[in-house]
Amino acid sequence: MIDVDCIIYGDYVLTMDESLTVIRNGAVVVKGNAILETGASDVISTKYISNNIIKGQGRVVLPGLINTHTHAAMVYFRGIADDLPLNEWLNNHIWPAENAWLSPEFISDAIELACLEMLKGGITTYNDMYFYEDAAGKTAKRIGMRAVLGVGILDFPTKSASCTDEYLRNAELFVKDWKGDELITPCIAPHALYTCGPESLRRSKALAEKYGVPLHIHLSETEWEVREVLSRYKKRPVEHLENIGFLDENVLAAHCVWVEDNEIELLAKRKVGVAHCMESNLKLASGFAPVASMIAEGVKVSFGTDGAASNNDMNILSEMSTTAKVHKALSQDPTVLDSRTILLMATRWGAEATGFGDRTGSLEKGKLADIITINLNKPHLTPLYDVYSHIVYAAMASDVETVMVNGKIIVDAGKLMTLDEQEILHKACKWCEKIKGNE
Ligand SMILES: [Zn+2]
Repeated sequence: MIDVDCIIYGDYVLTMDESLTVIRNGAVVVKGNAILETGASDVISTKYISNNIIKGQGRVVLPGLINTHTHAAMVYFRGIADDLPLNEWLNNHIWPAENAWLSPEFISDAIELACLEMLKGGITTYNDMYFYEDAAGKTAKRIGMRAVLGVGILDFPTKSASCTDEYLRNAELFVKDWKGDELITPCIAPHALYTCGPESLRRSKALAEKYGVPLHIHLSETEWEVREVLSRYKKRPVEHLENIGFLDENVLAAHCVWVEDNEIELLAKRKVGVAHCMESNLKLASGFAPVASMIAEGVKVSFGTDGAASNNDMNILSEMSTTAKVHKALSQDPTVLDSRTILLMATRWGAEATGFGDRTGSLEKGKLADIITINLNKPHLTPLYDVYSHIVYAAMASDVETVMVNGKIIVDAGKLMTLDEQEILHKACKWCEKIKGNE
């Protein structure tokens, strides 16, 4: 018998590998921070022993979910302003609140709440774009979550920097400090085409290339943005980025709502990852991204929650269900975005879009052990004919039971193991009192 660090059993193991192998009565063996083997329970149990065995009756085991676009610290602005057009929401509410409140302390406390919410909903990796990412990195690492942290770049001053040069200097320092970390991947995140001129975009790209780190940008989120970019550069947003040599497989583009066929072809050709933010797009009435067309063209489309101020939660399971249903209705075709495709978007394609395709996103030998289990012993998950159907159309965040990141159990029986949950909620309420008092 081989002694290993953990064995996770389940009635079903959804590997999400190339052939979408499902192991009925299966197990995943973890050694160190990686997956040693997946297989049938009866084979695994005669080959391996461990002091740490997660029993699997009534459980499904699957790769951790990946949130490829968020501004995690915005959880502290959850519900601060709703039911407004994007420009008014940003200019009159979100940016003033950020200018008043953002600081390393704010970010550090807010990231605790964001990670707690995401982990308890089965998210093991998030891809962020925000400010004071050093504080975010320290908190995410302390909690034990995997994160790609993009330092925001803008052409106008905010509390975190006074000019483009300073944003880029901050970003370079952050990249130098964190490159090579086991859990945190630094990233350069020019905000969008209407907030970053071509020179800032070129410099962001050069910086990312210099250090071999990813780029993260908002792209074609609203019709207004397309008109604005057309009037400034005489090109549509994706064409503009192509024109300045920005697009490649290192780029993750959030939204891509208003993209035309030739732009979709460009995104596919340049292997750009796309974060589809269905609920944010619905709430801000930004439009409907052509997800089915992008997938048909070979674009790697994944799920982002966007910030909690425009969603208002960080729940990939609900993004999955909503996305499948909305796109079926839009295309008047119920076969569009079937449950297997949706779960691929949330797992392996999410990892590929983030640049982690060789390391996470599926349960395969040698990949990092980012694994979750979902408890099927629930009224809304009974009876069971098709396990993919339940995960996509019926499961809730509260059904997530075990969450392992990088070989460590971070959520056990639905409870965060690394920090005190009540204390995190208490801190959030105290910040809310302060913010409300100052409004
Ligand atoms: Zn966003």
